[in-house]
Amino acid sequence: MTETKIALVTGANKGIGFAIAEQLAAQGVTVLLGARDATRREDAVAKLGASGASVSGIALDVTDPATIAAAAAEVESRFGRLDILVNNAGITGDLSQEAGAGGLAEVRRVFDVNVFGVMAVTDAMLPLLRRSPAGRIVNVSSSVGSLADMTAPDGGYLADMPAMLGYPVSKTALNAVTAQYAKHLRKNGILVNAVCPGYTATDLNNFAGTRTAAEGAAIAVRLATVGADGPTAGFFADEGPVAW
Ligand code: NAP
Repeated sequence: MTETKIALVTGANKGIGFAIAEQLAAQGVTVLLGARDATRREDAVAKLGASGASVSGIALDVTDPATIAAAAAEVESRFGRLDILVNNAGITGDLSQEAGAGGLAEVRRVFDVNVFGVMAVTDAMLPLLRRSPAGRIVNVSSSVGSLADMTAPDGGYLADMPAMLGYPVSKTALNAVTAQYAKHLRKNGILVNAVCPGYTATDLNNFAGTRTAAEGAAIAVRLATVGADGPTAGFFADEGPVAW
């Protein structure tokens, strides 16, 4: 009998994170929904649990070391290991992060969640992931962090947007963080990849995205459940590899 996999998804109370949790649970994975707000967390757990999914909430603000340590201790005492970590929580920040606007405080706030939050949660969960027979880490990045795209002569994907120092650069950094963890963990058989969900209708963009949360979640779920022969140190969207 194969053991039920245990997954932790950060920022799982809504949007793409919620859909990732839903799809993992539908595959029989026991999913811990990480969320910083108790009411939003409990509402999400109730919604998913109603369909019989094996889910529970876990208090987790990725910028708060105390909640990260407590979450790791809870996973340890309940399961003794972690098989899948999906670092999904992310924020875009406001327009003061525009290049030349001097909004360094906002850039720092975005990095705190999108980059340092991922490092802090990953480091806290690593001892548990090392105990998994098939550890997987998926970082939910974005093609807006692609250096190939942002240096394209035609201005790339977001050509009509102002140049921003926070969100896109934080995703570039997250991609590098992904590569470094992949390098560190290759010998342990823990596969680490970044994914781009595509332009997805969520609160992040006032639901202007053209893809559903379920569509956006699919690539993260695929990498979270990939076999031992799957990739590591990659950056993927539904269509295939994304240029770094
Ligand atoms: P969303 O609906 O706004 O969800 C973001 C999630 O992150 C929420 O659960 C939010 O919790 C959580 N979060 C924010 N700060 C947090 C913190 N400090 N600690 C813990 N959780 C925190 O946005 P989304 O579109 O689903 O975004 C999910 C991921 O996909 C992000 O990393 C985003 O950059 C990426 N992405 C999205 C798109 C898109 O088109 N939507 C495209 C490319 C990449 P609260 O509810 O408590 O705020």
